[in-house]
Amino acid sequence: MKESDLLHIAERFGSPTYVYDAEKITSQYERLTTAFQTVPKLKLHYAVKALSNLSILKLMKSLGAGLDTVSIQEVQLGLAAGFNAEDIMYTPNGVSLQEIEHAAQLGVKINIDNLSILEQFGSKHPTIPVCIRINPHVMAGGNHNISVGHIDSKFGISIHQIPHVLRIVELTGMHINGIHMHTGSDILDIDVFLYASEILFKTATNFKNLEFIDFGSGFKVPYKKDDIQTNIEELGQKLSVRFNEFCQNYGKELSLNFEPGKFLVSEAGSFLAEVNVVKQTTSTVFAGIDSGFNHLIRPMLYNSYHHIENISNPKGRERYYSVVGYICETDTFGNNRRISEIREGDILKFNNAGAYCFSMASNYNSRYRPAEVLWFDNEAHLIRKRENFEDILKNQVEIDLSPKKKKKSVPKEV
Ligand SMILES: *Cc1c(COP(=O)(O)O)cnc(C)c1O
Repeated sequence: MKESDLLHIAERFGSPTYVYDAEKITSQYERLTTAFQTVPKLKLHYAVKALSNLSILKLMKSLGAGLDTVSIQEVQLGLAAGFNAEDIMYTPNGVSLQEIEHAAQLGVKINIDNLSILEQFGSKHPTIPVCIRINPHVMAGGNHNISVGHIDSKFGISIHQIPHVLRIVELTGMHINGIHMHTGSDILDIDVFLYASEILFKTATNFKNLEFIDFGSGFKVPYKKDDIQTNIEELGQKLSVRFNEFCQNYGKELSLNFEPGKFLVSEAGSFLAEVNVVKQTTSTVFAGIDSGFNHLIRPMLYNSYHHIENISNPKGRERYYSVVGYICETDTFGNNRRISEIREGDILKFNNAGAYCFSMASNYNSRYRPAEVLWFDNEAHLIRKRENFEDILKNQVEIDLSPKKKKKSVPKEV
C-alpha cells in the first residue's frame, strides 16, 4: 500500500489509527509455507496474542492457518472467528487446572508446561490427549527478557525432567500427542534453533503415539533498515530435511507445526498519529503526538525500535527529533531520529506496528484505544472503532457516597 493510502486513512478514520496490510500478511504466510514445502504435513498456528482482531483471525483462517492461544479468552475469540476447535492449540503458562479443563471441554488441543498440572490433568482425564511443552535450555537471541528456553525460565518442562514425565504418563495412562518448544522471540542463529530441534527430536522418541512436533516461533523480522532477520529459507531447507528423516525413523508422518506471531503481522502494521505540538527546548526538538505508551508500549517496555516517518511531508528537509507522547510520564518513542521536517498537524507513521502493539494497548490517562483498519483488496476497512467515553465508563459502578442522614423517627399514627 502507498503512503497516500495511509494519509487518506488518517483523514477518513482520524488519529491515532492502526493500519494492517492484508497483502503483507499473506506474503509472509506464503514465504513460510514455501520454505517448508518439502514437509508433507505443515501446520502454522498463528499466535493470537500478537494481534487479536477478529478480522485478522479470519484472514489467517482464509490462508489455512490454525491458531496458537494462551488464554481461554483467546480460545473463545478463535472459535468466534470460525476456527474448528481442533485447529486451535492452547499453550498457557501458569493458569489453573480449571481453565485447562474448560479449554479441553471446548475441544482444542491442550499443551501442558508443568509436571503438577500434567499429573492432575492426566489422573482426571486420561483419555484426552495432551502435548507437552519442553524447555530445551537453549538460549535464543541472548536477551533475557525474550529468551524463554534458558535454565531459569518459567516456561516449559525441563528436558532433565523427562523421566518424571514418563512416569506420570505410565501411571495415568494418558496419551501424549505432541512435543512442543517455544524458545522465545528473536531467533538469529539458525544453528541454535537446529540444535534445540535435535533435543526435541530426541525427546520425541520417548513417545510412541505422537501426531505432531511443534517448534514454536521466534522468527526475527527487521525493525531497522539493515537489521538481520531470520533466514527462513535456509531454516526451512535444513529443518525440513531433518524433520523428514526423523519421521522416517519414527515410522510415522508427523505434522511439523510452527506458531508465528511477529513474523506474520509485525511488518504489515503501521501506526498513524498526528503531531500536536513541536516544542523546541535548549537541548532538542520534541515532536509531541496524539498518542503515548497507552497505545504503543514496546519502545518504553522493551526498548524496541520502531522506525518513524513523516508521511505528510516526505520531501521536507531532515532534522533530528525526539518523538514523544501525550501521557503524563516520560513516554519517548524515539530519540535523535532523523525525520523530514515535522509541522504541527503532520501525520507520523510508525513501522512494525502489527505485532504486540494494539494488543498491548490500554486506557491509561483515560484515553481511548485507537481504531484499527485493514487494507484488503485495495480498500480500507474499519475493523475496530475508536473507543469513546462510554467505554471508559463501562463496568464502573457508581455508589452513593453522600453522608448518611440520621434516620428520623417518624411518629406512628395512632
Ligand atoms: C508469543 C508466543 C508465540 C509467538 O511468538 P512470536 O515471537 O510473536 O512469533 C508462539 N508461541 C507461544 C507459545 C507464544 O507464547
